[in-house]
Amino acid sequence: MKIVFASGNEGKVKEIKEMLEGTGMELVSLKDYPNVPVIVEDGHTFLENALKKARIISEFTGETVLADDSGLSVDALGGEPGIYSARYAGEKATDDDNINLLLFRLRNIPQEKRTAFFCCALVLYKANGSYDSFESKWQGVIIDERRGDNGFGYDPVFLVPELKKTAAELPPEIKNKVSHRGQAFAKLKKALPEILKK
Ligand code: IMP
Repeated sequence: MKIVFASGNEGKVKEIKEMLEGTGMELVSLKDYPNVPVIVEDGHTFLENALKKARIISEFTGETVLADDSGLSVDALGGEPGIYSARYAGEKATDDDNINLLLFRLRNIPQEKRTAFFCCALVLYKANGSYDSFESKWQGVIIDERRGDNGFGYDPVFLVPELKKTAAELPPEIKNKVSHRGQAFAKLKKALPEILKK
């Protein structure tokens, strides 16, 4: 089954292709579709943003579309950076800029109150307008010191207490199993046979 992934980010497409191996889903990147509409991610939740992307790209391509949206929510900051995770420190912010702002905002918050979670929302949207959605969270704690070289985004300061490692210290194959994205894809994979029957 051909599925268009609503992202031009080749790194992400590669990671997701690996996660969907063996499911019979053939993932096609948006790179194969010139002139796709620009999508303003103005939803209030990860799910709203993923649904908006999936719907618009499905209406544009006429194909089944998979879209995701993800980010970090820190409890002591009322859920920040949330849907603004990628652009927390500004439109052109680097991962490092975003981490610096996050640590600055947490400077007076003690370690035990720095609980946070990553969230991933996935939407599989069919050309007939029906869709299924999946969401998963990954709990952790934000630490001041950056640890590890793997991953991306906020991984170096996201400590997973049970593993005593930051997300950036985990080998990719372990992160892909336990992370918000890994868990959301596991739910999608489990539901896929039923979805394909519909
Ligand atoms: P998007 O889902 O590609 O829009 O990602 C949103 C932003 O959330 C990223 O740019 C990162 O800052 C953050 N983020 C999402 N998932 C992860 C993760 O697994 N590790 C670290 N940061 C993440």
